[in-house]
Amino acid sequence: MHSKLNYALQSSNSFNIKANCPQIYFPSSFAELQQLPELTAKHCYILGEGTNTLFVEPQAPIIIQPKFTGIDIIEQDDHFVVSIGAAENWHHLVCFCLEQGIYGLENLALIPGSVGAAPVQNIGAYGVELADYCQEVQWYEFASKTMHVLTKQECRFAYRDSIFKQERYNQGLITQVTLKLPKAWQANLSYAGLDALATDSTAKQVMAQVIALRSSKLPDPKELANAGSFFKNPIVSAADFAQLQQQYPSMPHYPQPNDQIKLAAAWLIEQAGLKGFRHHHVGVHRQQALVLVNYGSDVGGDIVSLAKYIQRKVAQQFSVTLIPEVRMITEQGERSFSSLSDINPIRDNTNGNSVNANSTAGNITNGSSND
Ligand SMILES: Cc1cc2nc3c(=O)[nH]c(=O)nc-3n(C[C@H](O)[C@H](O)[C@H](O)COP(=O)(O)OP(=O)(O)OC[C@H]3O[C@@H](n4cnc5c(N)ncnc54)[C@H](O)[C@@H]3O)c2cc1C
Repeated sequence: MHSKLNYALQSSNSFNIKANCPQIYFPSSFAELQQLPELTAKHCYILGEGTNTLFVEPQAPIIIQPKFTGIDIIEQDDHFVVSIGAAENWHHLVCFCLEQGIYGLENLALIPGSVGAAPVQNIGAYGVELADYCQEVQWYEFASKTMHVLTKQECRFAYRDSIFKQERYNQGLITQVTLKLPKAWQANLSYAGLDALATDSTAKQVMAQVIALRSSKLPDPKELANAGSFFKNPIVSAADFAQLQQQYPSMPHYPQPNDQIKLAAAWLIEQAGLKGFRHHHVGVHRQQALVLVNYGSDVGGDIVSLAKYIQRKVAQQFSVTLIPEVRMITEQGERSFSSLSDINPIRDNTNGNSVNANSTAGNITNGSSND
């Protein structure tokens, strides 16, 4: 199996952070998976395209980057079954399907990353999520060295969640995803921005609109390093929301099952005055407060400090804890955000702007920095 020692990961993560791993493996077949050394006892991380990954320390653990490729299509009377290797690029898959006249994935266009990572957090956008079309997931288990097929129900998809982040976490890797895409198709225009389209719009027109909307709102990681939405939208109880709403009547909110309410993390960050905030080489995007951007830092800890600062400010104002969606990878493997130390905390100064605790006086970095 192809593998490399002392591998530089800077071009393998969309935050463009410098990190090295002692070894990286690129398994591309079942036989190669079975050759993987006993890694479960050691620290290791499965890497797709690194668009939802933050290397927090200069050293990363051993990495496995699956290289399963290929797209197979089986046509049935009323639907298509599409099986895709984990290493295929998600957006390329969406374009490929539309070119073949297979519709349904157009709302998920331009989501960066690999197909293998898509079920892990049940990727979603513009009113559609992977779970809507996922039929099954092929998953290799490290301990038994066997392949398993998990049905959609067994994957236990939820908002940015699945069994691969829960019970099956770190116990194996996804090699293939199978989607079921019905031939009977209707545009899903429920989401704001798409409702401007005519109801008889084609799938290609929907995809073009999704791409236009995303490109206008989200920075391209190739031009400005980022990992998309950094925090998940927080979910609170209806009782807690009622209290918040008294103080903030215009607070956006989305009712969920079980008497819970989803809040908009971007709105909370913006209300905390942090949209466009910049601290040296890292900051909050000017148009999209949920996206943290790296203007030129090599150090993952800088992003952690910024995220902790945002978390503190939002908690102070709303008593709501923002939880990152991005995965935090240390030399010892993945860690929870709360367990990470804030090595260079960002502090407020007396006039409400923020300065680096270690920077020279007057280096105010709120909003329009000259960096
Ligand atoms: C600009 C931008 C916009 C984004 N917009 C969206 C959006 O609209 N909706 C959305 O849901 N996400 C969005 N994201 C997040 C990201 O695109 C998804 O999380 C994507 O699925 C990550 O794919 P990846 O291959 O880069 O995963 P990585 O970052 O490499 O890994 C992410 C997680 O998946 C695991 N993983 C990766 N491959 C496998 C595998 N084969 N088997 C098992 N586990 C695996 C990793 O261990 C890790 O836990 C955005 C990111 C960016 C940069």
